[in-house]
Amino acid sequence: MNAILTFLKNFADSDKQPIRSAKVARQKFIEKSPEISRVTENYKDATVIPRTEHNVSRQQISDNALKVVYKLKKEGFDAYLVGGCVRDLLLGREPKDFDVVTNALPEELARLFTNCRIIGKRFRLAHVIYGREIIEVATFRKSGSEKPSEAQRSTKEGRILQDNLYGTIDDDVWRRDFTVNALYYNIRDFSIVDYVGGIADHKAGLIRLIGDSNERFREDPVRMLRAVRFAVKLGFKLHTDCEQAIHLNAHLLASIPAARLHDEVTKLFLTGYGIQTFEMLRHYGLFEVLFPAVEKDLSLETSNFPKMMVINALQNSDKRIAEGKPVAPYFLFAAFLYEPMMKRTNEKLAKGMLKSDASFSAASEILTQQVRRVSLPRHLTLTIREVWNQQAKFEFRVGAKASKLLMHPRFQAAYDFLLLRAQTGSASEELAEWWTAYQKANESERRKMTQPQAQPKSTKPKKKRVYRKKTKTAVVSNEDSA
Ligand code: ATP
Ligand code: MG
Repeated sequence: MNAILTFLKNFADSDKQPIRSAKVARQKFIEKSPEISRVTENYKDATVIPRTEHNVSRQQISDNALKVVYKLKKEGFDAYLVGGCVRDLLLGREPKDFDVVTNALPEELARLFTNCRIIGKRFRLAHVIYGREIIEVATFRKSGSEKPSEAQRSTKEGRILQDNLYGTIDDDVWRRDFTVNALYYNIRDFSIVDYVGGIADHKAGLIRLIGDSNERFREDPVRMLRAVRFAVKLGFKLHTDCEQAIHLNAHLLASIPAARLHDEVTKLFLTGYGIQTFEMLRHYGLFEVLFPAVEKDLSLETSNFPKMMVINALQNSDKRIAEGKPVAPYFLFAAFLYEPMMKRTNEKLAKGMLKSDASFSAASEILTQQVRRVSLPRHLTLTIREVWNQQAKFEFRVGAKASKLLMHPRFQAAYDFLLLRAQTGSASEELAEWWTAYQKANESERRKMTQPQAQPKSTKPKKKRVYRKKTKTAVVSNEDSA
């Protein structure tokens, strides 16, 4: 029993054990790479803001992030908090996550922390995992090298594909994106190290790229989305160089793998600032690269109805996030793409396709196109289809169909989507109100509501039923997980 308890205690405390082999590995590495100094606190041309002159306190830092930096310090490494957490703490905001940067190598981190996973190819990073909290720990990197090596690769346009050349803090700072994201909080003396005028830009509320804006966006076009995200989230302005460079380089986003854009788009629209983000992305020509079919539709429309659908969906989800309620990404995508899908359906109907075939094939086409640009996991595209499919079924209110629809596992999402359509004029308010009442009604009221005579008279002229000969419909490519 005692042996088991000792084992469990050692297991729980395992990250407190000194890792001798890590030190040996590091020593060997340093011998081979003399440019990495063991302690890098002789900053070249940096301003050091002492603890007494800034408002970042250890109390605001997550216990797990502190555990990581203290352990690194204890093992003789440098360790800094960097990036969004320092930026947000300076504003008195709670950071989304804590990023650590150190001179320990990924392999050393893996040995130091048993709760650690090395991830990434483009950038090798360590994730130190504490239950639901992940502390991302990166090794100082160098940007650009006269001798391109295996560790660094880029496309002929200059987009960085791989960047695993390690360096010092003096190197690391120049590969960061914006000045306000390049502030280092030093755990040894609680000072902030600023190489790039980040504190001044932070005070002025400016998002400014480090280095040449066009070049930095060419290296990684996703930085344009990050610029918009931070400007909206922090209430900062884009520096004019940054603005101009976005106008020039927006099209480069199309070269980014769809899976990476999925993550960015989720952060852009599902963190509570959807409306402003949407407006700003459109202003800079970035939205049209992410959602070409939606943009085409928005810019063609003379009345403001489709734009309202997107805006109302974003408003609803921003409101839910502000109230601490969960938001479903599929719902937003369903709203973004609904109008383009309906347009495509109508074009197919006009060509004589049957209604069910037209809707199915329009949904396939729109989703297939979209996932090529911004990937959506298959379970999301399936749910989007379901929500769209249910919309036509809301029209059937006689007999058992209504109660059957009510039992559908996606009823709630489909009903919420019907409300959104009613708010923006794409479904009648009477229909939405009927479904609201139907859900609240008891069994006998529901029976009465679904009697044929209880139905409100349709204002549309009755169409003569036409029987068609069944024809083979085109099979639509359903690849790319749509
Ligand atoms: P938040 O976590 O609040 O979204 P963040 O600035 O911390 O914002 P992360 O994606 O967590 O963003 O990245 C941490 C830091 O790594 C950034 O602050 C920045 O210094 C650097 N970084 C991240 N992505 C890039 C990039 N594409 N190009 C250059 N530097 C980057
Ligand atoms: Mg972060």
